[in-house]
Amino acid sequence: LCWSEKGGWHRPRVRPYGPLSIDPAAAVLHYAQEIFEGLKAYRHADGSVWTFRAEQNALRLQRSARRLALPELPVAHFLQSIEEILTIDEAWVPGAPETSLYLRPFMWAKEAFLGVRPARKVEYTLIASPAGAYFTGGVEPVSIWLSSSYSRAGEGGMGAAKTGGNYAASLLPQQEAYANGCSQVLFLDALEHRYVEELGGMNVFLVYGDGRLVTPATSGTILEGITRDSIIQLAKDRGLAVEERQVSLDEWREGVESGAITEVFACGTAAVVTPIAELKGADFSIVNPAVGSDSLTLSLREELTGIQYGRVEDRHGWMTKVTG
Ligand code: PMP
Repeated sequence: LCWSEKGGWHRPRVRPYGPLSIDPAAAVLHYAQEIFEGLKAYRHADGSVWTFRAEQNALRLQRSARRLALPELPVAHFLQSIEEILTIDEAWVPGAPETSLYLRPFMWAKEAFLGVRPARKVEYTLIASPAGAYFTGGVEPVSIWLSSSYSRAGEGGMGAAKTGGNYAASLLPQQEAYANGCSQVLFLDALEHRYVEELGGMNVFLVYGDGRLVTPATSGTILEGITRDSIIQLAKDRGLAVEERQVSLDEWREGVESGAITEVFACGTAAVVTPIAELKGADFSIVNPAVGSDSLTLSLREELTGIQYGRVEDRHGWMTKVTG
């Protein structure tokens, strides 16, 4: 789909996968005026294909668009683009256990000019790629790295938008995480460097043994994860208390040391729910309690993937049947 100031959204078209033609002066290449989304299509046992809360991705894309001074794509156009790509060739959605078709809608400033102002020509594009099971030999707890030198986003910045610039900011700390044997980086707040924000691509939850889940509030600096929101709902359904508020690194450390915190996990579309085994930093480490098979972490994971793959009743109407 193309957008221009005069013509609005127009010219939807499907074409074979291949390079985009882009002007060297296209604003996206110079000023990073770009946003994206990530969601999956799931094949159920009866062969039908479903999406999970896709309208939430549409709404988040609209919020990202506002922050990046891009035009808002109507929710109906977003959902239609997904439906269209899924119906071109039904076989694109894999059927093996825990596999899916990953969908990556993105919007980028196409207008060619040098100068800092919102582009008047924009394109919305959607690509799809089959995704294998994230874990092949059972869920593996991850180790994460605390970035002490870098922040991802500050107040008034773009932290709540899903825009490439945020991920550009996280590449170097992510590299540091890999070099220290960790798979993801944990960011603290930019101001005091005291409060937990999120991982490079996931949100974080602490579980207290007394039945409370605590997660950083979405106050503008972190991405409002759709998995995060779903986990909060499923936990509340079970009668658990969920606190969305500031979470300091000290609270995490002391909670683990005293035994009050019994589980720590991360969540996002790609890995769904993953136990965090350890938080490492340059001069410290917090070793979280081991997550057993009877843990809340694994039980919430099982429930959410169960809903997505049609094994568990969809009480909240989160699933939309696209084909089959
Ligand atoms: N935070 C960041 C920075 C992310 O990139 C993601 C992945 N989109 C998330 C959190 C989790 O969001 P979601 O549950 O919508 O995938």
